[in-house]
Amino acid sequence: MGRLGCKCGRVLSTVDSPNDVGLMAFEGAKIKELMVASPDMLLTDVMLDHDIQGKSYWYCNDCGRVYAFRDDHQMYNRVYMRCDCDAKSDDVDDILRLRELYFYTDRQVEEPTESDFGYTLKAFLDSPPHPYRFFSTPDGSKVYAFDTTSNSITHYYALESEHDDEVSAEA
Ligand SMILES: [Zn+2]
Repeated sequence: MGRLGCKCGRVLSTVDSPNDVGLMAFEGAKIKELMVASPDMLLTDVMLDHDIQGKSYWYCNDCGRVYAFRDDHQMYNRVYMRCDCDAKSDDVDDILRLRELYFYTDRQVEEPTESDFGYTLKAFLDSPPHPYRFFSTPDGSKVYAFDTTSNSITHYYALESEHDDEVSAEA
């Protein structure tokens, strides 16, 4: 899997590195644990050892869609569509109790380490490449983007379609 035609028409590719398509995903709980136990851990080690296992995510810069893949599957199994947010401010407390995720593009995590191999997790989070943290509903049908500069939910990703290629593989 190196290329994919997005539903908007753009061809997505992760062949070149760094790229703006592949997303690195981390559990918020894991990042917080690392920030307490070993904030000076190298960002490269965090990327290698502590990203979410078994899944990969691709992002389309043109339309904002996110494709979720499971390892060992040819096709993505979930597509998320970016939506403008109408969540009222009183929803925020509930949203912030959901499962927290950190997503950064391949380029956003690769570039700081290319110029400084000693770049630490703490240095990265002190000046992150974007201000968003993400919060997923338990069924994964909606992933909210929380802007840490305005302390508000600015948009979300809604599950657009779901696919299971195991069914067709058995047929
Ligand atoms: Zn697209």
